[in-house]
Amino acid sequence: MKGSFLRGLLEVILPTPRNCLFCQEAIGGFGLCETCAAAYEKKARLNGQCQRCGSFGVCGRSCDVCRHWPKYLVRVRAVWPYEKEAREAILAYKYHQQPWMAKGLAQASIGYLPAGVEVLVPVPLHASRYRERGYNQSSLLAKALAATGGPPVVEALRRTKATPHQVGLSKAARLHNLDGAIAVARPEAIAGRHICLVDDVITTGSTIEHCARALHTAGAKAVSALVLAAGFSTLAGR
Ligand SMILES: [Zn+2]
Ligand SMILES: [Zn+2]
Repeated sequence: MKGSFLRGLLEVILPTPRNCLFCQEAIGGFGLCETCAAAYEKKARLNGQCQRCGSFGVCGRSCDVCRHWPKYLVRVRAVWPYEKEAREAILAYKYHQQPWMAKGLAQASIGYLPAGVEVLVPVPLHASRYRERGYNQSSLLAKALAATGGPPVVEALRRTKATPHQVGLSKAARLHNLDGAIAVARPEAIAGRHICLVDDVITTGSTIEHCARALHTAGAKAVSALVLAAGFSTLAGR
């Protein structure tokens, strides 16, 4: 087990910080301190969350964002509303070269894995974006979830074309932007199984929808997803 020996050695030389990912207070383990965890649980509860796509600011069990979703896209569990400390932590993880945060993020989100999922599949990054960043944040999170007791990871999807950043595009433009951009690389590993996509944030859901469609076409039994954070439903006036 050369890999685990090297990881162990690295952990001795450069230990993963044991600080709350939101307030930076020193804690015994990884993830969030009790105060931040409780505050965000309360915030999630009080904001009303769609039980299907995880959007916040929703009255009732479901919302307009996911009304048209196909049956095989079962549900998305989102851990936090995408704002303040949660947003800052996710941006730091994704854009500020802090891949070590995956361990704490997995610790904080493992309890939110949708029921019945058998395989974790990270949302893929195109090779050019991977070269820019040096890591795929969704892939590292999925691996950390598997190491924290979650199901195994299969890198079943790949991006076949570099798409412009989704930020600022309309919903229709986002869906079109991703047309044919995602392919299944390992159909044998996902056929007949309930897949859990893993991503950092869900906004309009178009990336998750495209990934789910590709997996369904390749024979997946069902697709759910775990994301660290979701935005607020625009229909709720936020
Ligand atoms: Zn904290
Ligand atoms: Zn919804």
